[in-house]
Amino acid sequence: RDFSELELDSELLQAIEEIGYERPTVVQSEAIPHALDGRDVLASAPTGTGKTAAFLLPMIQHLQDFPRKKPGPARVLVLTPTRELAIQVADQARALTKYTNQKVFTITGGISYDEHAELLGKTQDIVVATPGRLMEYIESERFDCRAIECLILDEADRMLDMGFGKIVERINKECRWRRQSLLFSATLEGKGVRDFSSTILNEPVEVNA
Ligand code: AMP
Repeated sequence: RDFSELELDSELLQAIEEIGYERPTVVQSEAIPHALDGRDVLASAPTGTGKTAAFLLPMIQHLQDFPRKKPGPARVLVLTPTRELAIQVADQARALTKYTNQKVFTITGGISYDEHAELLGKTQDIVVATPGRLMEYIESERFDCRAIECLILDEADRMLDMGFGKIVERINKECRWRRQSLLFSATLEGKGVRDFSSTILNEPVEVNA
């Protein structure tokens, strides 16, 4: 398969070429077409398989294809277990959206409340967040989930291991107006990942890297 066979705009293909990806990885060619069809996706994909672009590319394409319907800080929400991963995902999102007008920001610990207040006051597109800090903003009504159209859980197994299950389920309920969810996990075996995914996903397509 070639990236040009996936239904991605030239703005995305140009960014992919510039980053230097030659062809889609297994999880990318498996997950992207289903995600572009609007399906929920349950993917087992460890780090190093290209999982990040596998969920970012269809989300960026979705934002290109559909106009914003509601006001709110962001339309796509990516949850990651750690601040470091959130920064990496946001960096990759910025590189892949380089030729679009989409705006990406992060909500994690280690960033001041003032800095977040400024970011949350703007209309943006993709927010990459760790669950704890995001929940604080939801509870204090500084982050409104009504405009979230797509929810992505990255490294869901690690989020469960770190004890974020309950918080993620609450964020999931806050995002009840969304149309699509993607869940990526290094493995789908053990640790209750499947049970957890069934509370989040709606008739998902399963993909294995
Ligand atoms: P990830 O599994 O998302 O952590 O990605 C692992 C590494 O593979 C990252 O450095 C990505 O930039 C890189 N990568 C992602 N997709 C591709 C691709 N299609 N071709 C080559 N490298 C890629």
